[in-house]
Amino acid sequence: MSHAYLQCIECGHRFPSNREAIYACPQCGDLLDVVYDWQDADADRLKTLFRQRRVSNAPIDVSGVWRYRELIPFYTDEAQIVTYPEGNTQLLDAPRSAQYAGLGRLTFKHQGFNPTGSFKDNGMATGVTQARVLGARVVACASTGNTSASMAAYATRAGMLGVVFIPEGQIAFGKLSQSLDYGALTLQVRGDFDAAMQLVREVAPQVGMYILNSVNAFRLEGQKTIAIELLDQLDWRVPDRLVVPGGNLGNSSALGKGLKELYDLGFIDKLPRITIIQAAGADPLYRTMTSPDPDRLVTVYARTLATAIKIGRPVSWKKAKRSMTWTDGWVTEVTEQEIADAKAIIGRDGIGCEPASATTLAGLKRLLEEGTDAPIDRDEEVVAILTGNVLKDPDYTVRYHLGDLYEDYVTETVVTSRSGKIDTHFANHPIEVAANAAAIIAVIERHLAQVAPV
Ligand SMILES: *Cc1c(COP(=O)(O)O)cnc(C)c1O
Ligand SMILES: [Zn+2]
Repeated sequence: MSHAYLQCIECGHRFPSNREAIYACPQCGDLLDVVYDWQDADADRLKTLFRQRRVSNAPIDVSGVWRYRELIPFYTDEAQIVTYPEGNTQLLDAPRSAQYAGLGRLTFKHQGFNPTGSFKDNGMATGVTQARVLGARVVACASTGNTSASMAAYATRAGMLGVVFIPEGQIAFGKLSQSLDYGALTLQVRGDFDAAMQLVREVAPQVGMYILNSVNAFRLEGQKTIAIELLDQLDWRVPDRLVVPGGNLGNSSALGKGLKELYDLGFIDKLPRITIIQAAGADPLYRTMTSPDPDRLVTVYARTLATAIKIGRPVSWKKAKRSMTWTDGWVTEVTEQEIADAKAIIGRDGIGCEPASATTLAGLKRLLEEGTDAPIDRDEEVVAILTGNVLKDPDYTVRYHLGDLYEDYVTETVVTSRSGKIDTHFANHPIEVAANAAAIIAVIERHLAQVAPV
């Protein structure tokens, strides 16, 4: 089996991956990659093996992460593997969304079909496995959302205690309900996210608690299998472009690493352009890349209703930049209005997603509208990653369709102010009717007249 190491992305310092919990380079403090001295990674043999595993009923073959385990060989023994199972997210054809963006065709890979409803499950499968490799009994994260929901589920299934640090009053109910239901010790810290994160770091070594925030390089190993599974589903035909929302930038980092490894190992002979879309109110990568000195992160005070990408100081920005360099990628930003409308259009395709996921369609539309200089062609083969399930944030969706969505609306419990109303261009407003058949028939007929025949 291949050997795994942790390697600093900046100074290249390399050390064994299975001795102790380390989240940053001991020499320079920068981010770490999990790297391998590939032993048995012959592309043709593995492509056949991965395909054969689809008829197996063994959980590690059924998992859309562990089916590709020869490409994430950091565990020392298969018995350590933790799986829900996860992955196996389908490719969905989205004709209305394609037309809206101005593309000939568009495919969504919907990570919201994962067991806890977001792509965080792909990463948690490997993150919690590494916790087991290290013998940890407690895992923790600071999170306001999907990371805590996912960690809570994986921790209890692996027989570990999950500890979720939540900045008080700053969590959407759908996601909080998951942490509570899955039995995580849920600590409401009187402070903001940064304070919660700081406390996780301080407490972790004292109680042997393994940290599963996205700075954890082992989570990204699971997330990189999203790209591997995608290519397997396309029979290893490489799309021209892969579009992904950018928050803490772990996902774009992981996809870039996975694709680069597939390229280096000879699985594919070109790379899809990784195109990252940020919300305009939480756009540190976009600002950094368009600043005179793109080697220095421009941080922002993040504001967006797409809470999953409400991040002003993304941990993985250097790795995301690397993904863009490797794949000739791109980053752009979209407004709250563009996100809301794009989400409604994805809904009309019968798909649905979290607000953060809808940045992908909004970003594609914007890139196509930017005209002749736009680095995109309408006939490209484009795959966009939908990151989270539509049921994570139903408040947002209902408010959009009721015409009651405001930029300052906060998903938790309070409406801070009523400025920045979002227009509902594609609203599907519920209709009040009298409790009488004739009135209802009239409404249905009026609507039928507006629907094109199939
Ligand atoms: C975590 C998350 C994101 C942001 O992903 P990063 O890896 O932090 O860039 C986007 N959408 C959803 C639904 C998420 O849960
Ligand atoms: Zn270093």
